[in-house]
Amino acid sequence: MSQRSRSRLARFALCIGLIATALAGGAQARGIVSRGAPSGNGATANGQVALTFDDLPAIALSKDEAYVEDINRRLLAGLRRHHLPATGFVNEYKLDDMIRPRQIAILKAWLHAGMDLGNHTFSHESPNDIGVKAYIDDIANGELVTKKLLAARGRRDRWFRAPNLETGHPMAAKQEILDWLATHGYRMAPVTMNATDWQFAEPYDDAVLHHDAARAARIRASYLAYTREMIGWYHDASDVLFGRDIAYVMLLHTTRLNADCIDDLAALLRKAKLRPVSLDTAMRDPAYRTPDRFADADGVDWMERWAQTLNKTLPWDSFHDVPKDIQSEYDKVDKDRASTDAGQ
Ligand SMILES: [Zn+2]
Repeated sequence: MSQRSRSRLARFALCIGLIATALAGGAQARGIVSRGAPSGNGATANGQVALTFDDLPAIALSKDEAYVEDINRRLLAGLRRHHLPATGFVNEYKLDDMIRPRQIAILKAWLHAGMDLGNHTFSHESPNDIGVKAYIDDIANGELVTKKLLAARGRRDRWFRAPNLETGHPMAAKQEILDWLATHGYRMAPVTMNATDWQFAEPYDDAVLHHDAARAARIRASYLAYTREMIGWYHDASDVLFGRDIAYVMLLHTTRLNADCIDDLAALLRKAKLRPVSLDTAMRDPAYRTPDRFADADGVDWMERWAQTLNKTLPWDSFHDVPKDIQSEYDKVDKDRASTDAGQ
């Protein structure tokens, strides 16, 4: 499949997500647009990887606060067990979605575990939908609680992750957002490794909530196989662009799937010889000084942006989408959730 047709598919996937979000009547946690999987064998030389988890406190089908707390408790325990530094990107609208003090306690637990927190906007909207001014207001509203928690530890909110990796379109809009971020001490957190975990996570959550162990095990196996493949693809992409492994920034989400898979994810990174580092450390890699001139409406990762800048072609021939059965399950669960929410 050509890169162009992949982009069309990606836009379609994003539209589906946006329609579902609209049907659900509010901002929903959503990852980035779908991309296929790679060919590489996952064995990299001496790379580094920084883990980032979006949509804190969590993406969960359950509105049970204890369920969300359990996801975070086990995810953080796993990150510490495997010495994996991580940055969590918060959507503060979620604090009021459930029991606010307990949601805030989850953010504190991240800092207590030695992790960093960043801003993922208040409501997870797109600048393409709400316009630059409202989007900037949404970023400013997204830091009110997180900023205080960081300040209490003598730290400040420095990282911004754009929802769906939509950084602004056209270029003037993007530049206005970047200027605001720079003026307010933020740096854009890029993504240079992604296995579309959010698409596996929702069906997995559904399987867990329905006590369907066989289905959960199947989705989990599929997720890990796809992630292994994607680690290899990003290695190949990095090789095309820079002739080496860069320090990757991996996009993940705070989900039951990742809480349950953290030991397996750590093993995949070890096998790929990727040394875990903080986001700050990864961003010292000179690759991140490559200009990002991308200003289309799509949300795409930084490998694709840099391919455009460097006039190089990523290894799309070896890139595979998320398995069809997972895509179908995701669409079904999302549709069911939208109709349930609409009925409430
Ligand atoms: Zn997000």
